[in-house]
Amino acid sequence: MTGAYDYDLFTIGAGSGGVAGTRRAASYGARTAIAEEWRFGGTCVLRGCVPKKLLIYGTHFAHEMADARGYGWEVDGNLDWSKLVAAKNRETDRLEGIYRNLLSGAGVEAIAGRARIIGPNAVEIGGRRITSKYILIAAGGRPERPDIPGIEYSITSNEALDLQELPRRIVIVGGGFIAVEFAGIFRAAGASVTIVIRGEKILRGFDEDIRDHLTAELLKQGISINPGVSVTRIDRSAGRKRATLSDGREMDADTIMFATGRVPNTRDLGLESVGVHLDKSGGIAVDEWQKTTVAGIYAIGDVTNRINLTPVAIAEGRALAETLFNSNPTSMDHTDVPSAVFSQPPVGTVGLSELEAIRLYGVEGVDVYKATFRPMKHTISGRDERTMMKLIVESATGRVRGVHMVGADAPEIIQGVAIAVKAGLTKKAFDRTVAIHPTAAEEFVLMRDKLKR
Ligand code: FAD
Repeated sequence: MTGAYDYDLFTIGAGSGGVAGTRRAASYGARTAIAEEWRFGGTCVLRGCVPKKLLIYGTHFAHEMADARGYGWEVDGNLDWSKLVAAKNRETDRLEGIYRNLLSGAGVEAIAGRARIIGPNAVEIGGRRITSKYILIAAGGRPERPDIPGIEYSITSNEALDLQELPRRIVIVGGGFIAVEFAGIFRAAGASVTIVIRGEKILRGFDEDIRDHLTAELLKQGISINPGVSVTRIDRSAGRKRATLSDGREMDADTIMFATGRVPNTRDLGLESVGVHLDKSGGIAVDEWQKTTVAGIYAIGDVTNRINLTPVAIAEGRALAETLFNSNPTSMDHTDVPSAVFSQPPVGTVGLSELEAIRLYGVEGVDVYKATFRPMKHTISGRDERTMMKLIVESATGRVRGVHMVGADAPEIIQGVAIAVKAGLTKKAFDRTVAIHPTAAEEFVLMRDKLKR
């Protein structure tokens, strides 16, 4: 199949999308290679989903112990932060090994080093010129920090995952999912946590009830949330850092973390030289077949800056392999992608927010069902935590267009409900479904009263 080329597919970046797509291509007999400049596994496995979730599991025991006391357990305990970080690192090291084995087992040639495109069918890596019929850019993204004085004294999520000591006081700048997840980790571990956000509320883009409900829960835990301000400078003295805010306030902390956004890794990839265009958001512009503006060059995952989630990058990579190497043209469907925020308590969401639905169907065209309640577990645990669940229904068709939840197990519950939303099921189908009692999830099939607006 290669003809005059060294490979059929050369992939830049061995993260979630690159590895999945290249392995699938190899399974169809394509001659494949994958270049990685850092560690095999990419952001999700080594600097994202996996290590952060392990820290969430590790710190959430603080909540469990407090809850257990309400049930009569005489438990108490202290967290050895460095042991938690070491255990997390052992697991991510193990996973990196698994990724390497998966690639070699699939017959993908793994090449360490930074790759750069030097022609429509050519890349350069470590001084070597390699040709390939197709090139796949799966270079992911990286954290971005504002250019303010003293920014070098701050950290990003990359370093936050590897702090050797637990900060006593941390300021987290940003209100996106990464910011609130790390706020939960550090707060549960015992740190004093302050969030600083430029906008009015955390979790821009999520349903307003999710934003308000989670804000209330974080405040109850003693997390301070400061809206409408930004950090304008950072000073350091005697190991402590001081953040100066746009309203003149000063905040002292051991650690200042910026979670103000991520940008696609398009720098120095040689894109301009071959004519690969970026879109307005700075991601590589692709069509629904992951094709860039240059024939033979494709891009998937975070580097395209569309829906920056691991399962999306994986699905895009596999779809491309199906199209190119299995005569099975497959485009990725980006609608109704469920997602979670592993805050404490967590968020699960799929489909339209109430505002998005109103924009599409008008105020009269949308029915909203909502429940907030104290979960049964906390009647005895004594924890002051409430769960919020919400259904967004298109009145004309009865179709459930959005499902949102803040509360224990929300990501697990929403994954199941997402199948119903994707299948286009109606509120009537939800109503016909028998509840599992006693659960929190049963509320999704028991909501009867439309919210009066
Ligand atoms: P990546 O996984 O970023 O892989 C890109 C790879 O390309 C990297 O390994 C990089 O080193 C390499 N590379 C870049 N340029 C070159 C080059 N020129 N040559 C060679 N190699 C190169 N997603 C979820 O679905 N759930 C979550 O809970 C979740 N949590 C997250 C938490 C954090 C803190 C972060 C930062 C992200 C999280 N994400 C989560 C997002 C998820 O990690 C990404 O969407 C996913 O990793 C994207 O995969 P990718 O293949 O596009 O890129």
